[in-house]
Amino acid sequence: MSKKEIDERTHILKDYAYHYYVLDQPKVPDEEYDRLLRELEELEARFPEHRHEDSPTGRIGGEPLDQFRKVRHDVPMMSLSNAFNADELRDFDRRVRDGISGTPVYSCELKIDGLAVTLKYEKGSFVLGATRGDGQTGEDITHNLRTIGSIPLKLKEPVTLEVRGEAFMPKKSFERLNKAKAEREEALFANPRNAAAGSLRQLDPKIAADRHLDIFIYGIGSSPDKDFDSHHEALNYVRNLGFKTNREAARLESIDEVIDYCEKWVDKRADLPYEIDGIVVKVDAIEDQQQLGFTAKSPRWATAYKFPAEEVVTTLRTIELSV
Ligand code: NAD
Repeated sequence: MSKKEIDERTHILKDYAYHYYVLDQPKVPDEEYDRLLRELEELEARFPEHRHEDSPTGRIGGEPLDQFRKVRHDVPMMSLSNAFNADELRDFDRRVRDGISGTPVYSCELKIDGLAVTLKYEKGSFVLGATRGDGQTGEDITHNLRTIGSIPLKLKEPVTLEVRGEAFMPKKSFERLNKAKAEREEALFANPRNAAAGSLRQLDPKIAADRHLDIFIYGIGSSPDKDFDSHHEALNYVRNLGFKTNREAARLESIDEVIDYCEKWVDKRADLPYEIDGIVVKVDAIEDQQQLGFTAKSPRWATAYKFPAEEVVTTLRTIELSV
């Protein structure tokens, strides 16, 4: 029975992941995907002999599309572990404390619901932009990323570095786009995340340029010219180079404050001009991050607190627009 259950869930989740990551057309709401993935993780932990080698529980994202040049990431682009409630945030805090010598300080950031991208600069010039893909290999989408006004083509200093961020479609652009699609009787995008991903994975950069995308940079992939003591310091550095970072980030000193921050945003997120699907909690000190390290899929020094999805609202809006 356990084997049949694992086989079934693996098969369904692989199909959902393909539609979400490769086709940018999710078949089910994220909550449903996350619930099934959790169930599969629990079954695999109990019956490891039945786990598939290519199980979605151990994979990041999807295969890069063939029509784009493939880009091998020098530093892998990882996923994040999830916490769905306060107890799971406390479990994360316990694991962090067990893994470091001091007391952790957390950097809390809005989890922007878009598409992870990496941007490479050589001597201050933007030379390459790519998707996360499967974490090891992404797609070269430089031509489309160049159309995003908030991506600097020249930095304020001639440095060589790689930054990581979330490209997204603001709510207003998404509504405008789906309204125009409805008028032309074209299929609508399910949500701004899929609209952003669909816009950036186009061969013609005019399409991305028309869709008013934006970006927040949330970290550094590599910076051979400069070391940092904390994540917070790294974010200040990239902001000073000319990148757009999110102003709502906060440095917090206890897990209770982290939980308050997460709860505050459950209600406040509706007021933002872009979609967020949670809060990313990161251990701030780089030394602590190094002590904690990584699993095969995600850093042990960060987790994503996930809100209940807003898909229901989006579906209603989609129906409204399509009639
Ligand atoms: P994730 O979305 O849970 O977390 C990792 C990503 O968070 C990063 O790659 C980055 O893009 C993003 N991010 C946003 N703001 C960030 C910040 N400030 N700092 C760091 N990262 C930030 O993990 P995932 O591996 O991309 O995918 C899992 C998600 O995709 C889940 O929400 C899942 O529900 C959804 N999904 C849905 C379906 C479906 O069929 N509906 C299928 C597959 C996956």
